[in-house]
Amino acid sequence: MKNELSIVIGYLYGDLMNIYGDTGNIIALKKRAEWRGIEVSVKNISIKDSLKPRQVDLYFFGGGQDQSQNLVAKDLKSKGNVIKQEVDRGVPLLSICGGYQLLAQYYKPHEGPKLKGIGLFQAYTEAGSNRMIGNIVVESMFGKLVGFENHSGKTYLKPEAKPLGKVIKGFGNNGEDHTEGCIYKNAIGCYMHGSLLPKNPYLADWLIKKALETKYGKEVELEPLDNTLELQAQQKTIQRFG
Ligand code: GLN
Repeated sequence: MKNELSIVIGYLYGDLMNIYGDTGNIIALKKRAEWRGIEVSVKNISIKDSLKPRQVDLYFFGGGQDQSQNLVAKDLKSKGNVIKQEVDRGVPLLSICGGYQLLAQYYKPHEGPKLKGIGLFQAYTEAGSNRMIGNIVVESMFGKLVGFENHSGKTYLKPEAKPLGKVIKGFGNNGEDHTEGCIYKNAIGCYMHGSLLPKNPYLADWLIKKALETKYGKEVELEPLDNTLELQAQQKTIQRFG
């Protein structure tokens, strides 16, 4: 079945920032949209590619090691303003771990200077001495979310920043204050690799809905899908770890 709707997913630095299955998020978004007859194209946006407003309807930015973050942080300076403007007009965005860190104020690695972020999220990250690794379960406005985290960076939210959710199991932003991630307008930063979206279909659909609503300027109701398998995978993780 086909309808007239289409979206462009902008994959930020997918060649450099993609670990623990992050690309699975793009696949889940694409499939869930296509199953509803929504046409999807994926635009890879990496170092030296130009980025203009209204080229992308939904952004994704995955995680990566410090070395990749270093390269990406330099290039992001030229794209930061467009990304912020687009989020301000409602374009949804999902970022994970290293991507999330670079969209906030700064990331201070173990060695070397601070990497300046674009300041979309009012938060900052400093490398800690312990790795925060394992399965994570979070209570959020999307219900329970499950994922896999692996980071040493500790992210602290400024008072004006809103967390994505509360950690039930795992470490989240910093392993101290039980917050996980950050949400600003329709942009989300979090520590949940996994892949995240195949096991958390309500979050995937929220991103698609926001992309369509922002693009077409009207409310959109997505056709329901059979989420039996997706929710089984989610429930299993909650039962085992939550
Ligand atoms: N450098 C980051 C950290 O360890 C990012 C790691 C990641 O993206 N998984 O905190």
